[in-house]
Amino acid sequence: MRYSNCFVPTLRDVPADAEVISHQLLLRAGYIRRVTSGVYDYLPLALRVLRRVEAVIREEMERAGAQELLMPMVQPTELWQKSERLAKYGPELLRFKDRHGHESCLGPTHEEVICDLMSRELRSYKQLPINLYQIQNKFRDEIRPRFGLMRGREFVMKDAYSFHVDDESLMAEYKNMFDAYTRIFTRLGLHFRAVEADTGSIGGSDSHEFHVLADSGEDLIAHCDSCDYAANVEKAIATRDMAAGSAAALGELATPKLTTAEEVAAFVGVEPGLLIKTLVYRVAGGEMDGQVIAACVRGDDQLQDVKLMHLLQADAIDMATDEEIENIGGITGFIGPVGLNAPVYLDSSLAKTGGMVAGSNKRDVHLIGLDVERDINQAHFADLRETRAGDRCSCGGKMALSRGIEVGQVFALGRRYTEPMEVLFQNQQGRREVATMGCYGIGVSRLMAAVVEQCHDQGGIAWPDILAPFKVVLISMGKSEAVRIASMDLYTQLQAAGIEVLWDERNERPGVKFKDAELIGIPVQIVIGDRGLKEGKAEFGRRGSERRELPLLELMSATISELAGNSGASL
Ligand code: ATP
Ligand code: MG
Repeated sequence: MRYSNCFVPTLRDVPADAEVISHQLLLRAGYIRRVTSGVYDYLPLALRVLRRVEAVIREEMERAGAQELLMPMVQPTELWQKSERLAKYGPELLRFKDRHGHESCLGPTHEEVICDLMSRELRSYKQLPINLYQIQNKFRDEIRPRFGLMRGREFVMKDAYSFHVDDESLMAEYKNMFDAYTRIFTRLGLHFRAVEADTGSIGGSDSHEFHVLADSGEDLIAHCDSCDYAANVEKAIATRDMAAGSAAALGELATPKLTTAEEVAAFVGVEPGLLIKTLVYRVAGGEMDGQVIAACVRGDDQLQDVKLMHLLQADAIDMATDEEIENIGGITGFIGPVGLNAPVYLDSSLAKTGGMVAGSNKRDVHLIGLDVERDINQAHFADLRETRAGDRCSCGGKMALSRGIEVGQVFALGRRYTEPMEVLFQNQQGRREVATMGCYGIGVSRLMAAVVEQCHDQGGIAWPDILAPFKVVLISMGKSEAVRIASMDLYTQLQAAGIEVLWDERNERPGVKFKDAELIGIPVQIVIGDRGLKEGKAEFGRRGSERRELPLLELMSATISELAGNSGASL
């Protein structure tokens, strides 16, 4: 394509509202424009990249035996009632009524629609297993859309759903999809890691997330330095040497105005690990809906709220108000687990501890010499602390933390949806049975941003060859007829060879052309100018490295060999 015909509205300055590099570069390089909060236009360059990401995904999904279909974006809300997920999904589900008063929603995911389809079409075990996928726009009314394509409200997702006669078949497909995802992210040239994940609002048993490692990632992942163990901190389990207190009688100590764990520990003269930090929450959803509960971790640990939410089988947990705390016999700033009129959940590291310090539920007083099992009523123990860097893995190795961008997730859902949605089949004995199910998502548009997070430099985006919107940028320097003819000739040859080339024939200064080419991120650069032409030569090179002079006649073969092996797909 000729640059002057191409719609690439580049910007000279970094847009003020763009915090992360991918958002800045995709705006500056003329790939995306914001329509409204979390909703974007994909301009021609972005669409070219998006189509390439989709092509790799399609190839690997088909190779793995999945079939593509397309489901609607609009879904009847009744289906969400039937699957018992309407309340759980909450305000992220955008709901509306049509002219007949029927309530619908915009699909944030498609378990309901596919189960509804399968409940009508599935008859016999002979039709199973089956894996159906689509690439389609999703809508989630995210509370904080941000970082451009990374967390949008409308975004492109690849979602696949598999159905099986039994869990053995499901787990085989889970592994098959896990391997397909590994191939996809490897082909896209990403530095990524698969980690054990919480199943969140979607439910089910096993789950893994795939994270692109980048400092701008919203997730924190913990991984062992000596074995394969890696998990989202929402789920990661590790241990460390914990301070052990010595047995003592329960007593009180005046601690005027000392409320933080560090302050109290310093005042009492113990390590923060011997302090019990107590947090009070109100539970939303599940059997404990509306109840107020207390949760405790050691003073030098953080409570991992997803672990607590999971333990309580809640949809959400919110910090309790001062009044709610008073109602269970506590007082803000001096809350402790002893004598609270509420269930108390303690991190397992607190089991069998003595000589601990905690709030007393009286103003300006703390308890000392606390023995957890002796002194606390209604105590439940579970893993609630957040894994920290340096913790010990069960293999004995050391845990490290990295930030990750979640680009995909696979779930073994079991019968969580197929049972309420009545996805049944007739088994070999002629009896009706509930099918078991898996689901597998990839954030296609988020992936595009994640690639930019990993592949960029001072000059702009450095697309891997396989994703670049054009493989070659041909820059004509000067306005002479000789340059125009030589450029035109090469342009035609490249096109004839099926190599996507952007010909910058604009009447712009060379500096502008080079800057734009770098910013947009086209891998191979060819520069044709009068000086070189006199000797029958042009400049050839890869973005980000030195160009060399080559005879015009060698440009085609040099381009082909430069792109070969790097493109991972057709040129
Ligand atoms: P997150 O934890 O980031 O909110 P999720 O776990 O809710 O994501 P899934 O239901 O697993 O998301 O959806 C599958 C994939 O869709 C995710 O792995 C992610 O890559 C992508 N995705 C989810 N939400 C968004 C969003 N708001 N914008 C862009 N991509 C998204
Ligand atoms: Mg997810």
